Amino acid sequence: MGDEEEKKPDCVKVAVRLRPLSSKELGNNESSIIELTEQTSGTGTATGSVVINDPDNKEKPSTFAFDIVFGTGTMQETVFQAVGQAAVNSTLTGYNGTIFAYGQTGSGKSWCMMGGGGDLKGIIPRVNEQLFVRIDELQQAVSSRKFLVMCSFFEIYNEIIFDLLNPVQDRSKLGAGLQVKEHPVLGIYVKDLQEIVVSDADKLVQLMNSGTKNRAVSSTMMNSVSSRSHSIFTIKVHQKDDEDKSKNVFAKLNLVDLAGSERQKGTGASGQTLKEGANINKSLSALGNVINALVEIANGKKVFVPFRNSKLTRVLQESLGGNSLCTMLATLSPAACNYEETMSTLRYANRAK
Ligand code: ADP
Repeated sequence: MGDEEEKKPDCVKVAVRLRPLSSKELGNNESSIIELTEQTSGTGTATGSVVINDPDNKEKPSTFAFDIVFGTGTMQETVFQAVGQAAVNSTLTGYNGTIFAYGQTGSGKSWCMMGGGGDLKGIIPRVNEQLFVRIDELQQAVSSRKFLVMCSFFEIYNEIIFDLLNPVQDRSKLGAGLQVKEHPVLGIYVKDLQEIVVSDADKLVQLMNSGTKNRAVSSTMMNSVSSRSHSIFTIKVHQKDDEDKSKNVFAKLNLVDLAGSERQKGTGASGQTLKEGANINKSLSALGNVINALVEIANGKKVFVPFRNSKLTRVLQESLGGNSLCTMLATLSPAACNYEETMSTLRYANRAK
């Protein structure tokens, strides 16, 4: 399989979500510089635009339009309905999918993907639940249909892949980390990555929680923070129907919490930190370039898709091109002090349209 992707992607959808000012920001008298337009009341979802004011030049606000705009009052359930439900459906129809959370550290990526307890749970636990609800329904409708669900969870830190479900005690001994391989039939995969068979949503949530914990633990060991790595939670669904072979399909859904998009501080960064920062910027721009190329293809152009420029895009290659469903969820802080970073998030998300 080459890097050239000729099929038209079904869609690259771009959503943005604005978080409220935090209590700390409110305590600092920080003002909100973002307004959303065309928001529907109640559920909070709408195609709409983001208007952002430059705190140093109030005369010239910038406006960006997106497929979906979620305001500060938007419930987690609403975000799932708009972004996660379609991903579950397409996975069960046999199409690969990816949902990315992109934004600066503290803008709400983990809140969107993982969330809190109960009604505050985020996209991943809701996808897990909905997936098994739908599988039950499908199995009840057609008893010859069989499903196998598998899960993996890894992070890419400094261009090195670490298994979060089978963590190593001492990462420094792992050398180059897990390797990305390509198989003529199975396609692109991460060699030796743990894949765990799951038969209910609780087990999936349990794996998500233990992986997240491993991420946090290893981060402290490496004297870093998890905001500097990309985490990729993948659910694979194999479907078989002995009475109707046309229903034999396979698809994977990747739920990705990207590294913080903030520019790494120039001063004081040296050695490891500097390398880390360069790798984060490299992989986020590689992802931006891939999505941009896919959008051009969707618009009828024939362009090269540079999947091989980062581990992230290479691993996700089969879930980005072709008929896969790709959603970018950009998270925004409303605070004036984050103006530069928020502008850069909006520009990045705008390019993906
Ligand atoms: P990131 O993953 O981008 O670093 P977090 O998801 O950890 O950011 O969010 C930072 C803080 O803001 C957390 O305390 C989180 O609970 C809060 N937060 C983020 N988004 C929202 C939101 N939409 N509504 C309420 N609180 C939010």
